[in-house]
Amino acid sequence: MFDCIVIGSGPSGISAAIYLKRFGLDVLVIGKDYGTLSINTKIENYYGIESIDGVDLIKKGILQASNLGISVLEEEVVKIEMSDSFVVGTSINSYNAKTIFIATGMKRNSLNIKGLKELEGSGVSYCAVCDGFLYRKKRIGIIGSGDYMLSELEVLRRFSNDLVVFTNGEEVFDINEFKVIDKVISINKENDLIKVNTSSKSYEVNCLFVAAGMANGTSFARHLGLLTDEVGHLIVNDYMTNIPGIFAGGDAIGGVKQIVKAASDGCVAAYKIKDYIKGL
Ligand SMILES: Cc1cc2nc3c(=O)[nH]c(=O)nc-3n(C[C@H](O)[C@H](O)[C@H](O)COP(=O)(O)OP(=O)(O)OC[C@H]3O[C@@H](n4cnc5c(N)ncnc54)[C@H](O)[C@@H]3O)c2cc1C
Repeated sequence: MFDCIVIGSGPSGISAAIYLKRFGLDVLVIGKDYGTLSINTKIENYYGIESIDGVDLIKKGILQASNLGISVLEEEVVKIEMSDSFVVGTSINSYNAKTIFIATGMKRNSLNIKGLKELEGSGVSYCAVCDGFLYRKKRIGIIGSGDYMLSELEVLRRFSNDLVVFTNGEEVFDINEFKVIDKVISINKENDLIKVNTSSKSYEVNCLFVAAGMANGTSFARHLGLLTDEVGHLIVNDYMTNIPGIFAGGDAIGGVKQIVKAASDGCVAAYKIKDYIKGL
């Protein structure tokens, strides 16, 4: 039986695992892929690292954990059951633990628009706070609707006052920016500009931010009754969810969605988990 199973091998999960291991606890990490940073992107705001590809940073973290003797499995968690301990089921195996740390991130939803995927990291971004700075004073496009789009738009206003909002056929908000309500059919890149094409017209922008909402990766635990907020973030109190023994951190619990905060959550949660196990 493991002291803790960490679900997620991103910055939060790996940081938690490193602290737990160094506390002398028996920890297993299960992650299904490279998470949020598998979108082609450069990290240039993390302490001590001037510039690194997101995927390279994730690989470094996993290697660091493995070199400490932590098993990092590449499997997808499909269920958690509770008996005397927690039983974490993947498509391949099941594993028992006294505690669980959920660090499954929040995936940005994409849109089914021709050309979008190909331009990810090359003019198309999913994170205003991460990449808005790169396009300051430029013509910035944002596509999406609803509260999430409005919150990303608010961030982008700090970087440019030349903003174009593509609502993609959705309702019109009361905003001052130039709006395009037609559905977007395709995008492509020409002479370093992103062309956003509707059925009637093409619009040129320097970059396009996709703001189509987010999804958490915790469907495997829904039946346990884990509480979430309206966006889908897990609700925690001192990093513990409403189920004693199940902790969570990183993007999955909301707040500032940045690597430094995810890593910090992992560290602080590891202290809480250590204390919790001591009290069992
Ligand atoms: C385009 C973009 C650019 C960004 N740029 C920056 C930047 O420049 N600087 C910065 O600080 N932040 C940046 N971010 C934000 C940053 O990526 C996140 O804040 C950070 O990755 C969150 O870490 P996390 O560990 O909480 O989640 P993630 O990194 O998303 O990791 C989630 C982990 O959970 C695993 N997982 C999910 N579901 C399951 C399951 N069912 N079973 C097993 N494993 C599962 C995934 O495989 C992954 O290992 C960017 C985000 C985006 C989208």
